[in-house]
Parts: sequence; C-alpha cells; structure tokens
Amino acid sequence: MSFKAILVEQAEKGVTAAIREVGEEQLPEGDVTVAIDYSTLNYKDGLILGGLGGLVKRYPHVPGVDFAGTVESARSGKFKPGDKVILNGWRVGEVQWGGYAQKARVKPEWLVRLPDGLSTKEAMAIGTAGYTAMLAVMALEQHGIGPDSGEILVTGAAGGVGSVAVALLAALGHTVAASTGRPETHPYLRALGAGTIVDRAELAEAPKRLLASERFAGGIDTVGSTTLANLLTQIKYRGSVAACGLAAGNDLPTTVIPFIIRGVNLLGIDSVMAPLPLRVEAWRRLATVLPKAKLAAMTEMVPLAGVVEAATRILTGGVRGRLVVDVNA
Ligand code: NDP
Repeated sequence: MSFKAILVEQAEKGVTAAIREVGEEQLPEGDVTVAIDYSTLNYKDGLILGGLGGLVKRYPHVPGVDFAGTVESARSGKFKPGDKVILNGWRVGEVQWGGYAQKARVKPEWLVRLPDGLSTKEAMAIGTAGYTAMLAVMALEQHGIGPDSGEILVTGAAGGVGSVAVALLAALGHTVAASTGRPETHPYLRALGAGTIVDRAELAEAPKRLLASERFAGGIDTVGSTTLANLLTQIKYRGSVAACGLAAGNDLPTTVIPFIIRGVNLLGIDSVMAPLPLRVEAWRRLATVLPKAKLAAMTEMVPLAGVVEAATRILTGGVRGRLVVDVNA
C-alpha cells in the first residue's frame, strides 16, 4: 500500500520538497504504525523544508516534527489499533521520518495517548509549539510564580509558542504582557488575553544598563539574543524567565548581575527530549486549561500541498499563531 508524503530530497543546490507516493515498506523501523490525521508547521519544520540548519543527515526525508492520528498496527502491547495518539519531539521529522505523510512508523515510548477532551485536530492546533508553551508555564509555576506574582512578559507573542503562552497564562489568571513586532496583531493578542502590548523594538537593542527597573515577575521568551538579555534586566527580585526559543538569534549578551543581585532564574525549556511523565502532564493540562475558542482563533489550516509555501512564511516571521497541516486534504 502506498500513501502520500512530502519528500525532501537533496538537489545540486540545497533541497527540493514535493508530494510523492511512498510505499509502506519504505517506512522506518518501529513497533507502531500510525494513520496520521494532522501534523503542524513549526519553525524547525521551516528550516528543514528549506534545507537549512544542518538538521537532516539522511535524504530522502519526510519532515514534520509532530503529528496526531490513530494507531493502525502495533507490535508491542502498549498500544492497540484504534488508539488515538500524539507524537512530538524525539527528533522525529528531523533524524526520523515525520508527520508530513499519511502514515508514520515510530517507537511506542515516543507516543502520548490523546488526552480526554481533545480531538486530533485540536491536539495539532496546540502542537509542539503549544506543548512547549505549557512546559514553560509549568517551569514558571515550579519556581513559585502564580497569578498574584505580577505581570508576565511573552516575547515573539504572535508566533506559535507565543500565542499559546499568552492564552494559557491568561486562562490561569496571570496578568500578561505580549511583545510583538507586528502592530496588526495587537487586537489578536488582546483577544487571547494580553493586557499590555510591548513593542518588540523596545527590547531589541543591547541592554544599556546592567539592571533596569523591576517590571515583570516572569517571562516566556521565544526570541533569545538581546531580547532575552533585556528581559532579564527587567525581572523582579527572585523572578524567573523560561527560555525556549531563538527567533532572533542563539546568542545571549547578558551579565551575571540579574542572577546575583536580583536572584533571577533563567529556566531552560527543551520539548524534544522531555521525559514522558512531564509530557503526559503537559498534555493533560493543555486539554483542561486552554480555552477552545482561543485555540480556534489562533489556528490556520493548510493542506499537504500548502506546506512548502507556508514554510517560507514561518521563516520570515509571517505566520500568526498556529498552522495545522491536514495530511489527507
Ligand atoms: P514562530 O515563527 O511561529 O514565532 C516566532 C515569533 O518570534 C515570530 O512570530 C515573531 O513574533 C518573533 N520574531 C521572529 N523574528 C524575530 C526577530 N528577528 N526579532 C524578534 N522577534 C522575532 O515560531 P514558534 O513559535 O514555532 O517558535 C518560536 C521559537 O521557539 C523558535 O525559535 C523555535 O525554534 C523555538 N522552539 C523551541 C522549542 C524547544 O523545545 N525549546 C520547541 C518549539 C519551538 P512577533 O511577530 O510577535 O514579533
């Protein structure tokens, strides 16, 4: 049996990406075969579809770092045909074939059962980006930040991680500030729950002082570089910042002063290799906390044939919220 997949192949210059018919026998080794309903487009997928970042070592390759669908066959006892599952991370879509296909074959320990209250479409509207936002929120909570702590700043707020972070924090009762470089997204961010909008430009220049006025109790940063450095100088005494992204760069031109004078915590967020219990808890909370109407408002659907064009948009910061890929459309 063959199925449709986006196959990325090496070309003389860079890579090409196109929909191809793939035989089931070409799927990688693994115990569980999943019929995929939906995948998503994340920043990393954009890099892989563009042949950037040196993330893929073997071609031809099927990208797509996450998917949700139904177990078709399973050799191990953990899953049975008909089970609804989510996969994100474990370098699937990067070193393993991923979700831009109608089928995938993976290890059972990589799969999370779809939590009650979520459809496969909603799970992918959340996707890796939303699950990363939840991990960031949980990290702030573990460091003592609650709704009464004060304002939390989300950077790259109109992007995928940022949009879900704003909606989650607001739903949990936090006061949310959203930093964006796109004025046209202000009404959207306010509707998601942002009380204040901070112009991205205010944080873009290298910090002028070792410490600025204490403004935010915490932050979720998807941008990195000078933006994160500035945010650290504005965090209140013993506040925390969850760092999960590098949309502006992987450098961090800061000093130790926020850490040793204000006791600020910089919390690293990795979604890819996060242990299973943490994943299960993050998905459980997403299913219960994230308002469905807000999730729908931040979601755009694309068919498999639209993925390559959408990938160029995400690399230039042109995607608002989340892009869900219907692999059967
Ligand atoms: P998106 O492209 O959807 O969002 C990124 C946002 O960052 C943009 O929408 C824009 O927000 C802002 N941005 C883009 N370029 C710049 C720039 N030069 N300077 C300042 N801001 C900029 O990506 P995702 O939300 O999917 O991912 C965000 C980041 O998180 C990426 O770096 C990604 O690699 C990382 N990530 C990390 C994970 C982990 O496990 N740690 C998991 C998932 C993602 P606006 O328009 O509002 O200004």
